[in-house]
Amino acid sequence: MNKKDVFEQVSYMEEQIGQLYQQLGDLKSQLSELLEENHRLALENHHLRNRLESSQDGESNQGDTDINKDVSIGEGYDNLARLYEEGFHICNVHFGSPRQHEDCLFCLLFLNKTK
Ligand SMILES: [Zn+2]
Repeated sequence: MNKKDVFEQVSYMEEQIGQLYQQLGDLKSQLSELLEENHRLALENHHLRNRLESSQDGESNQGDTDINKDVSIGEGYDNLARLYEEGFHICNVHFGSPRQHEDCLFCLLFLNKTK
């Protein structure tokens, strides 16, 4: 192997290492995005589970009379309104996902319709 070949090989390896380093950086940023999303979803799941449990508790207290039915519709509305206030979508377009501090037209329409 002559000196020129060795130099070319070393240059080639240098290039490869540079590319690998860049790929590693990309993967690292993808990983941190995934971890963030995972955290967000875990939080969302936690909130939704709490909501589900509290709405199931509400159902077990319901009777069969019309008066109780009217009350349960009101409670359902309150639960959804609270969920919306806590920053989650209640519209059928994005239901259960975080609102990111912006009002959602679909949610507001839904709240007015249910009221
Ligand atoms: Zn919405």
